[in-house]
Amino acid sequence: MPAPRFTRRAALTAGTAWALTACSAQEAEKDDAAGGSPSASGPSASESGSVDTSPASPAESAPSSSRSNLDHASPDSLSVLVNKHYPLSPLDWAPNDLVDFGGVQLRAEVAQAAEQMFSAAAQQGLALTMLSGFRSYDYQIQTYDNWVNTYGQEQADTASARPGYSEHQTGLAFDIGSAGGCNLQPCFAETPEAQWTAENCHKFGFVLRFPYWQHETTGYYFESWHFRYIGREQAQKYKDSAAENLESFWGFEAAADYQN
Ligand SMILES: [Zn+2]
Repeated sequence: MPAPRFTRRAALTAGTAWALTACSAQEAEKDDAAGGSPSASGPSASESGSVDTSPASPAESAPSSSRSNLDHASPDSLSVLVNKHYPLSPLDWAPNDLVDFGGVQLRAEVAQAAEQMFSAAAQQGLALTMLSGFRSYDYQIQTYDNWVNTYGQEQADTASARPGYSEHQTGLAFDIGSAGGCNLQPCFAETPEAQWTAENCHKFGFVLRFPYWQHETTGYYFESWHFRYIGREQAQKYKDSAAENLESFWGFEAAADYQN
C-alpha cells in the first residue's frame, strides 16, 4: 500500500526537501551537475517540501497490455524498473549480495559482468574506472539534502533522484569514468571509453540508462557514464529493438516527473 510507505519516507526525511542525482553521491561530492545541467530547464520538480499528497503506486497497479511479462516490481529482480514513477519497494531496500568491485559495491552478478566488460575494454586499450555503484537509502538522504541546500529543490529534482528512487540503490547500476578526465561531465560522452562502452555494453548485459535527449521519458538528462544491468538476454533484445530508452522497451509510460 502506498500510504504507509509514503508515511515512512516522509518521517525519515521530515524537514528536508527531495533531490538526489540518479548518479548522486560521487557527482555531488565532485560538485557536478550529474546528469543534467542545472541551468537547463528539464523535467520539472514537484512542489517543494510537499509531503501531504498521497502518491499513486504505479508499481502495484495493473500492468498495461503492452508491458513485458518480466518482474519489474521486485527490488531484487534484474528487471526492476526504478524511475520517477517507480520507487523501490520498500523504499529503503538494499541488496544482500553486494560485493566489492573497484572500490564500490555491486550485486555479485553485476560485478562479474562489469569485470568482463572492463577486461574487454582493456583489450582495446581503454581504461575504464569505476566511480560509483550501490548507494544506500540513508546515504542518499544525506546527499539529497546537500543538493537541495546547494541548488534548491526544483533544480535538485531535475538532476537528481530522491531517496528510494535511484537506480544506484538496486546494486544494478554504476557510473564509469576514464583516466582521461571529463568524468561525470557532458564531455565524457566524447571519450573513447564512453563511446566503446555505449556500443558494447549490451554484450555484457548492460544498457546506457539515460540516453541522449530521452529525459522526457527517463526523467534524466543524458548520462554517458551511467550503466544499468538487465542481463545479457534482455540487453541483447534491447539493442536489437532499437528502443530509445528502457521505459519504452519494457512497455512503461514516460516518467519525466515525480507524481507527488
Ligand atoms: Zn549513476
